[in-house]
Amino acid sequence: MAIIAAEKELLVYENMGVRFDRAASKLGLDKGFQHVLRTPTKEITIYIPVVMDNGAIEVFVGYRVQHSLVRGPGKGGIRYSPDVTLDEIRALASWMTWKCAVVNIPFGGAKGGVICDPEKLSRRELEAITRRYTAELLADLGPERDVPAPDLGTDEQVMAWVMDTYSMHVRQATTAVVTGKPIELGGSRGRREATGRGCLIACDRALRKLGRKRTQQRVVIQGFGNVGSVTAKLMHEAGYKIVGVSDVHGGLYNPKGIDVPKLLEHVQQAQQVPGLAGCDAVGADEVLYLECDILVPAAVENVITSRNADRIKAKIIVEAANGPTTALADEILEEKKIFVVPDILANAGGVTVSYFEWVQDRMGYFWTEAMVNERLEQMMVASFDDVCSYAERHDVSLRIAAYMLAIDRVAFALKLRGLYA
Ligand code: NAD
Repeated sequence: MAIIAAEKELLVYENMGVRFDRAASKLGLDKGFQHVLRTPTKEITIYIPVVMDNGAIEVFVGYRVQHSLVRGPGKGGIRYSPDVTLDEIRALASWMTWKCAVVNIPFGGAKGGVICDPEKLSRRELEAITRRYTAELLADLGPERDVPAPDLGTDEQVMAWVMDTYSMHVRQATTAVVTGKPIELGGSRGRREATGRGCLIACDRALRKLGRKRTQQRVVIQGFGNVGSVTAKLMHEAGYKIVGVSDVHGGLYNPKGIDVPKLLEHVQQAQQVPGLAGCDAVGADEVLYLECDILVPAAVENVITSRNADRIKAKIIVEAANGPTTALADEILEEKKIFVVPDILANAGGVTVSYFEWVQDRMGYFWTEAMVNERLEQMMVASFDDVCSYAERHDVSLRIAAYMLAIDRVAFALKLRGLYA
């Protein structure tokens, strides 16, 4: 059932929209409410002047989109990348709404981004961009309003600058304004590993459902940043065989299994995946087509499209990245009977532990890593099982089931609150 035009296939917000429409119609949601929930609440564009290290002044463009604040404060990362667009941030903000609802945490959805290349900026320039971006958003951010986190191109240090800038303006240390902070500033134990740990839990649940064993699974991971590298490490420790990995520089393949601890050491030193001895070199995108049982796209959007979905050999796809698969590719994967654990479920471990971080900051009482991991596991398992039973009950894919569950929860809250006019 193709309901997105081929020329719009790579527009991520359109892709969110077609899945939303399919799920909302299946739920029989009133057209008016569909319209409200499909549309963002607020979109802010910020022009950020920065004196660069060479003395020149540059103006960067940044965005913050709040898609929905119905179930709680906005929640969503800040992305620094030359490829940031408003369309992308809008889609990512909506996905955050659905993701928070799938795992049933009391947040809405938001996302931010700045068009810049962090690899080409000095630390001082990055700090200047971050502080001005935060200062311009002062009225919209806050523990009860909108709580950012790291995403592509941002890290714990960027979150520390956001927290400091906000705190200086409101005249009190406000740790709960961001998550993904350094532990010394109110960050949570287990947050850095949370998205990868959530992916491992999602893989384990998928295997349980399909009656497969960890030790017989060959895994390929595309992307070796925070999410990809942690997923590789945890899956390797759990007994999965990692046979392929890649980053933006290229990929590696070893059908006998890559020595993941050695790979992590190599990446630490070389700052890139290619070059590990004992593996075959493959192209960055070629890893998608390797012989394997489980494929984990953990890099960027739109890597599995109608042009290449038929070349994928994996039986299971666990979407660690946001939006790696287009709506047109969904249909091909469904025809091939590939079991797809959708992004808004598979990578929800990160936002779940962000929620724990926000709770701990507000309580001023910090949990052990074992407590964090145990609660994460409980929430991921419950959400996975909820989505599976929704899929079975409504005879839809896990992706549409996840959207249905999420939309149902947000629509219910919206109806209870009513439309303020
Ligand atoms: P990151 O910047 O740490 O890493 C991204 C990785 O992808 C890098 O290794 C980069 O080299 C690689 N990459 C980029 N383009 C590639 C390509 N064409 N082929 C192969 N590799 C490529 O980012 P991250 O935090 O790991 O996030 C990865 C994805 O996971 C994003 O979609 C992000 O939105 C999503 N995500 C992240 C979190 C989190 O907690 N960090 C949570 C949920 C979802």
